[in-house]
Amino acid sequence: MERATKIVATLGPASSSPQVLHDLVVAGVDVVRLNFSHGTPDDHRQRVETLRLAMRAAGRTVGVMADLQGPKIRVGKFTNNKISLKAGQAFILDAVCKLGDDTRVGLDYPELINDVVAGDVLLFDDGRVVMDVSQVSGNEIHCMNRHDGVLSNNKGINKQGGGLSAPALTPKDKQDIITAAGLRVDYVAVSFPKHGADMREARELLDAAGSKALLVAKIERVEAIANLQDIFDHTDGVMVARGDLAVEVGDAAVPALQKKIIRLGRQANKFVITATQMMESMITSPVPTRAEVSDVANAVLDGTDAVMLSAETAAGDYPVQTVESMVRVCLEAEKSAEVGLDHQFLQRVFTRIDQSIAMAALFAANHLKVKAIAAFTESGSTALWMSRLNCGVPIYALTPDVHTRHKVTIMRGVIPLLMRYIGTDRDELLREAEAELILAGAVKPGDLIILTIGEPIGQSGGTNTMKIVKVGERRKSN
Ligand code: PEP
Repeated sequence: MERATKIVATLGPASSSPQVLHDLVVAGVDVVRLNFSHGTPDDHRQRVETLRLAMRAAGRTVGVMADLQGPKIRVGKFTNNKISLKAGQAFILDAVCKLGDDTRVGLDYPELINDVVAGDVLLFDDGRVVMDVSQVSGNEIHCMNRHDGVLSNNKGINKQGGGLSAPALTPKDKQDIITAAGLRVDYVAVSFPKHGADMREARELLDAAGSKALLVAKIERVEAIANLQDIFDHTDGVMVARGDLAVEVGDAAVPALQKKIIRLGRQANKFVITATQMMESMITSPVPTRAEVSDVANAVLDGTDAVMLSAETAAGDYPVQTVESMVRVCLEAEKSAEVGLDHQFLQRVFTRIDQSIAMAALFAANHLKVKAIAAFTESGSTALWMSRLNCGVPIYALTPDVHTRHKVTIMRGVIPLLMRYIGTDRDELLREAEAELILAGAVKPGDLIILTIGEPIGQSGGTNTMKIVKVGERRKSN
């Protein structure tokens, strides 16, 4: 049984060697994430080159996602790198402080002064340190620290409830978009977008850099929750970025939001990635906790397209074992995930011919015992539409386009397959499709498959034909 849920693994020092990257690809990573919050353009370039060699050696297609840092607001540095804080201690965020001490620290975004007022709650280091703002004056934000804790160099700052004015794309992000385009990445994730306009700006910058990468909106701001539909209108996919989201909305609100974002995202024909702390304990342990196993399984049952690993694979002691554990949990959870078309299927509204064929294929697959759906696709859209419903049948995206092959790697239940034939003879095309499906171990002679195709072959245009065939059965063109 092919795993339907996809695995995104963040690359970092623990996963950059040719051997580890090869093992990660073999273990089942579908998309790698280059975290532009860390590392140099050269680090990312080397990782992509090593990955492409590993892919070729393993015979698997793996997508590449560049994740932009975004306007993560951070404290500056301390004279001794970190300080200990006591509950009830007064502390100052000082926009002009160069090097911090036990009483104050600098800010990498001095404009924060304009975004906070007395009574606001600031969270540092993903909420490990919490401070109440007591007064804002001049260049200083005066705070009262709530609990004993440690604050170290460059830790992130969030404001509970949102309301930070920093734009989603910083000058560094704009430069990184050019780097990502040069690396021919398949996805670009935008951090902290507030509305669709942030995604539109990213799209314009990517277009200008000559990149056709799909956009991922990281949902991690209170404002993004309020503007979900607007964001859906300007993105290809979304990420439930639970780390920062939990800080902004409160951790207890995240599980329900995760379900909502996955449901609405899939309804809007967007792919959804569930991210952060999924296998956190495996940074230092060879086995996951029961809670982590449940978390990954629940994301699968929620209908996520992909589950994501961050520090587990970037900096952990057991990157390959973590992916293997995730594979195991996803496969088991998928056995009990609801498959089939629900009653809402017949209520779905679509006006495009290609989308109608995609839905017709799902309808037929739901009634016939087909082994696979094979979608000839130029852009990947047919495969995306099919994969928005959990029909329980693997969807093979057959395409001669290398970028399309890479960009379907994130979609749940979609398996990319290279088509070498680029002529116009339909029988020849179908013969190659069958041969590739047999070679991939997807089907055997006698199995029923559904093919969707755009005719006339060889002309660009949408999918307009569905064909149901028995593998190996002789047929003639009509
Ligand atoms: C998150 O906040 O959950 C996230 C995925 O973003 P980052 O890892 O960039 O903080």
